[in-house]
Amino acid sequence: MTAADTARQADAGADALALETPEAGLPEQFYAPAEPTPVPAPHVLHLNRPLAEHLGLDPARLARPDGVAVLAGNRIPSSVRPVALAYAGHQFGAFAPRLGDGRAVLLGERVDRDGVRRDIQLKGAGRTPFSGMGDGRAELFPVLGEYLASEGMAGLGIPTTRSLAMLTTGETVSRGEHHTGAVLTRVARSHVRVGTFEYFARNGDPASVQVLADHVIARHDPELRDSDRPYRDLLAAVARRTGELIANWMLVGFVHGVLNTDNISVAGETLDYGPFAWMDAYHPSACFSAVDVYGRYAFDQQPRIGSWNLCRFAETLLPLLGADADLEAAKTAAYDALAEYDSAFDRVWQAGLRRKIGLAEETAQAGDTDLAGRLLNAMAEQGADFTLTFRRLAAVSGDDPAHDDPVRRLFADPEAFDVWARDWRARLAREGRDDAARRAAMCAVNPAYVLRKHHVYAVYKAVLDGDTGDLDRLWRVLREPYADHPDMAAWAQPPAAAERVRWTFCGT
Ligand code: AMP
Ligand code: MG
Repeated sequence: MTAADTARQADAGADALALETPEAGLPEQFYAPAEPTPVPAPHVLHLNRPLAEHLGLDPARLARPDGVAVLAGNRIPSSVRPVALAYAGHQFGAFAPRLGDGRAVLLGERVDRDGVRRDIQLKGAGRTPFSGMGDGRAELFPVLGEYLASEGMAGLGIPTTRSLAMLTTGETVSRGEHHTGAVLTRVARSHVRVGTFEYFARNGDPASVQVLADHVIARHDPELRDSDRPYRDLLAAVARRTGELIANWMLVGFVHGVLNTDNISVAGETLDYGPFAWMDAYHPSACFSAVDVYGRYAFDQQPRIGSWNLCRFAETLLPLLGADADLEAAKTAAYDALAEYDSAFDRVWQAGLRRKIGLAEETAQAGDTDLAGRLLNAMAEQGADFTLTFRRLAAVSGDDPAHDDPVRRLFADPEAFDVWARDWRARLAREGRDDAARRAAMCAVNPAYVLRKHHVYAVYKAVLDGDTGDLDRLWRVLREPYADHPDMAAWAQPPAAAERVRWTFCGT
């Protein structure tokens, strides 16, 4: 190849990912310049072509060596100066003053076809000024988990960061043992977290908190610019988004697993898939993180911990909430705004529960959520699979128990289901809705497919053996989790006893 060819290739690589400067407009205290560290042998395991197109990127060019070089961090589009963002955070309740992007580099931004500005970040791109003793790298297993989980979450219709591409690097990373190194291209509405606010607030820098708040308002809540109390309204908006998000997770049996304040996005997206899980058998105290010994982030603790995290956010805004440093007025405004969290959570959770058991919103009755709650209790006692119970409930008749077997046999003692189903059918009878309509409505909110942990392991093993067929099939099914896909039924199966995954770890 001549020098001219090399230069042309470099330009083509830049074009394939023409980006705007990351977090445009934020002053320099919010980040540190951070170039990705090149990797020896980038290889694309999966490219999210529909997402690339949505971002206005050409997937064919991304898949070519020059595009791959950009996704690997080996070539930086000439238009951008990559950065690592600064943030702090409460981890398991303890404040860590300096976290920041230690293994991720924010490459740039792109306005998508909906006009939404998206960050494009390389996770696992090498050391940054925030890496501490870490190597800045990511291993394949958690990258694969995040890749599939984020796309599965998006398929469920729940706000989340997305995954554009997943590469192996040709390097191993050492975590005691050696593992395959990988880079994930993460796409997010924002990488600003509650922890970003804490970084400045706890450092006694309210001026930067205000700049950051104005930046978040401009990017996510531009209508608040005209408010006479924009910071109170920003707190309320983030509280509302977070309450809705956590309720939506719980309605699909999702446990985030590490709800530290640095993992709470101000944009209301699911952020950081570490020890996450969609439950198989339902249990309210399900907890999958090996380090979470007290179950701080267990399934049923999520509403509480969401509220706790938002209190930390509110604290950072207090200097902006009360005129003339009036702390009492600031606190009153904060409590008032934080109330949005509870009401958003309750609204989404209760309406969602009703829909899950086939009750229409317009005919809501007192006792509906109790009825759903009693089903959950029976499921917990009888070890019933969360996803399959609701999905199969959609398929049974609304007035005839003769063919209940597919759902009742999910319960260790099927009679526990029968008892509940009698009340359920009595309630359905008062609903007066056509049974086919009820079934269709239930299938639209009760997925057949969620990403199950044992499937991540199975796909991981296949990928290590050089076979990405199952990876692609699972990814496709997770994009349309409310459809039946009869040829993909294996991906709906809960684990056999020997396949059950108990613990997982952080560490994308
Ligand atoms: P997380 O567990 O993803 O929420 O990360 C917590 C903090 O540890 C963040 O500041 C990360 O950037 C940092 N971190 C995690 N793994 C590494 C690594 N391999 N190298 C450098 N920093 C890391
Ligand atoms: Mg994190």
